[in-house]
Amino acid sequence: MEILLGIAAAVIVLFSLGMAGRASAAEKPPVAMTQLATQPPVQVAPDALRERLEKLAESAPPRKLSPGAMCYDMAMPPDRFDYVCPACQTKTVHARTQTQAPIQWELAACRRTLKTIKGLNIELTETGFCAKCDPDAKAPVLGIRIRYAGNKIHTMAPIASVDLQLIAEFMAGKDKHDGGQAGEKPLRDYAKRLAELLGTGPIKK
Ligand SMILES: [Zn+2]
Repeated sequence: MEILLGIAAAVIVLFSLGMAGRASAAEKPPVAMTQLATQPPVQVAPDALRERLEKLAESAPPRKLSPGAMCYDMAMPPDRFDYVCPACQTKTVHARTQTQAPIQWELAACRRTLKTIKGLNIELTETGFCAKCDPDAKAPVLGIRIRYAGNKIHTMAPIASVDLQLIAEFMAGKDKHDGGQAGEKPLRDYAKRLAELLGTGPIKK
């Protein structure tokens, strides 16, 4: 019996050590991550954003939504894509593949949209793009890193440029999401996605 109790105690100690190790590791930013800083630090609390999201989710949908615009031809992507790392300035040449043509556009769209987000300390994480910073990366991944009040950090990957657009629209207090060719949609329909993206915790609705 004593031996069993001893084993149980050892297991509990090991388990809590493991948990502590994981918690502290999660606070450290991943090493191979390049960031595109935008605006000066803004002290926002995730709880305040969650309350705003819950209000949005319960709000009446906007009365007028414009339909999508006409389709237009997308230009063919170039054969190669030169990535200049914002962290180490090294240039990595990516040959065009099925998967990399869209991410090249996504990277440009994400960088562009990131600059339109107001009132949030948010960075775009460009992981796996730089051959020097991420020599073992299999594919480039875009993500976000949000710094909240009280040194809370929320990271999420992968994300797409449309996610950043949703954040920009929400932070600007809009009630519509501009879906481009798909037309406008009520932003409240994206409240759950926004809660995930912003790391506010689940919203009521
Ligand atoms: Zn680099």
